[in-house]
Amino acid sequence: MISVDTVIVGGGVSGLITAHALRAEGHSVLVLERQVRPGGNAISERIGGFLMEHGPSTVNLGMRGIAELAEDLDLGNVRTDLGRGVRKRYLTKNGQLAGIGLHPLAFLTSGYLSWAGRARMAAELWQPRGDPDAEETVAEFGQRRFGAEFAERVLDPLVSGMFAGDARQTELGFVMPALAAMERAHGSVIRAVLRARLRGGRMPARQLSSWREGIGTLPSALALRLGNSVKTGVTVRRIARTRHGFAVDSGDRGRVHARAVVVATQPHVAAQMFAQIAPGAADECARIAAPPLAVVFLGYRRDQVAHPLDGLGYLTPGGEERIVNGGLFCSTMFAGRAPANHVAIAAYIGGARAPDHACLTADTLISTVRREFADLVGARGDPVVARVRQWPRGLPQFRRGHSRLVERLEQALSDSPGMYVTGNYLRGPSVGACADCALDTARRVSLYLGQATETAFRIGGSRTGAVATANPQCR
Ligand SMILES: Cc1cc2nc3c(=O)[nH]c(=O)nc-3n(C[C@H](O)[C@H](O)[C@H](O)COP(=O)(O)OP(=O)(O)OC[C@H]3O[C@@H](n4cnc5c(N)ncnc54)[C@H](O)[C@@H]3O)c2cc1C
Repeated sequence: MISVDTVIVGGGVSGLITAHALRAEGHSVLVLERQVRPGGNAISERIGGFLMEHGPSTVNLGMRGIAELAEDLDLGNVRTDLGRGVRKRYLTKNGQLAGIGLHPLAFLTSGYLSWAGRARMAAELWQPRGDPDAEETVAEFGQRRFGAEFAERVLDPLVSGMFAGDARQTELGFVMPALAAMERAHGSVIRAVLRARLRGGRMPARQLSSWREGIGTLPSALALRLGNSVKTGVTVRRIARTRHGFAVDSGDRGRVHARAVVVATQPHVAAQMFAQIAPGAADECARIAAPPLAVVFLGYRRDQVAHPLDGLGYLTPGGEERIVNGGLFCSTMFAGRAPANHVAIAAYIGGARAPDHACLTADTLISTVRREFADLVGARGDPVVARVRQWPRGLPQFRRGHSRLVERLEQALSDSPGMYVTGNYLRGPSVGACADCALDTARRVSLYLGQATETAFRIGGSRTGAVATANPQCR
């Protein structure tokens, strides 16, 4: 049986970053990935001169962990930042796109919200602080501070677009901790934004980046560095504790012995992995829903689309009752996403708002999105390219109580020394948050391996000494 310091189950960005960081600390690692290629949902595909992102389209290189990693991987020369054409955000109102400036306070001056809605939004400055222990949803926080119209017309589509979530169920403190912190520190979100603006802070949307061949560049670069330490096409079936660590069983693809194991899969798979070793952790993982999500990518000749596409894309409030949650103007966001004189637009369907919509047939999804783009951006005729990606499990949902769920999960795993978890349901779904979580996990695993070795030498040179160290996961 092969023996390594750490087996990482799952070769998405979370697993690969954990492995890369552990290797940098001198530990031997083995990543076992079920799919034929590593990267999880970070898949970028060239289709002719178009570039389709099947999963993430952007990375926030304003976050230190992912920015340093990208530098370490020498990705600086292929970095691409938001194009100059991104001047607005669009929201759907009464079946049409309304353009709004990128600054968060632009809602006060645009006609997207009614006069009454804008007056109520401005009154946020004088709203009393809420109860910090209330575990509010985004919708509750939005209504309390900014009024119902802002909550329904701005926050609802934002949560749907960023988290494929439902604002009425999503825990504010988990997905938008900055808003809660602004209220705590400044008594008002608007006051906090104005003060940051006076200090010259940049708006988050301006820090969104990618790489020339898309976000898939990141897992490809990590896998290249990790070389033989990544095995693809290997499905881990079971993890069992042994006297010396863990046996990681992949059926006819063999068994590996490891001193530590990091589970870096989707939560429902983590539940299976933990079932025998840490049933409490398995129960918590099993509670996390990840409703289906579909991406429909269409490419057109420029002259087929009337709209200037001068923004990141658009989002649609649930109240508009459209099938498509929103779209990204891919070829405006980053250069090289469509051939010359062509444009690329991607639509997102499903998530917590309407999971069943993501499971329609690919043909139905394409015709739905063609009608949507004809209505909203004046797209005419057959697209040059049409491609669909359906994710049976899209993004994890951070429902009310999610922060406590993560705490219980960490607590349950602390009784299983050497067993770790990392992934997009612990700190947030963005690639940057996954990187932070993975780097933190790697630090803890490294500490554990160092302590285990030290203890083993103290008790007589064997590596079998039980090490009862606490095992807090990230966060
Ligand atoms: C449509 C979509 C759009 C997104 N857009 C953005 C965006 O614009 N910006 C952004 O920052 N984030 C975005 N995200 C979120 C981000 O892409 C993900 O949260 C992140 O990529 C998750 O990485 P991960 O490694 O934690 O999980 P995954 O990518 O899910 O990786 C888990 C891996 O575990 C493997 N696995 C599962 N079971 C087993 C097993 N038994 N044995 C071995 N391997 C196993 C899987 O095959 C998979 O490769 C988007 C996500 C989606 C789906």
